[in-house]
Amino acid sequence: MKTIKCSQVGGGECTFEASGETVDEVRGKMSEHAKEAHKDMVEKATPESMTEWNAMFDKLWEETPEN
Ligand SMILES: [Zn+2]
Repeated sequence: MKTIKCSQVGGGECTFEASGETVDEVRGKMSEHAKEAHKDMVEKATPESMTEWNAMFDKLWEETPEN
């Protein structure tokens, strides 16, 4: 299992963390959280910025050790 912090993926001071076995599971949890907690950010997102965010998330996932 790996844990990704919201603050690592653009959430600023946010202390939310999402954990799971697969990158898609954790990405899904983070997206759900962002829709509620970071509405402004989600509304401003473009297809290009989402592609960048997804790439950044994949890279972070690879670099994060199992816990
Ligand atoms: Zn957050």
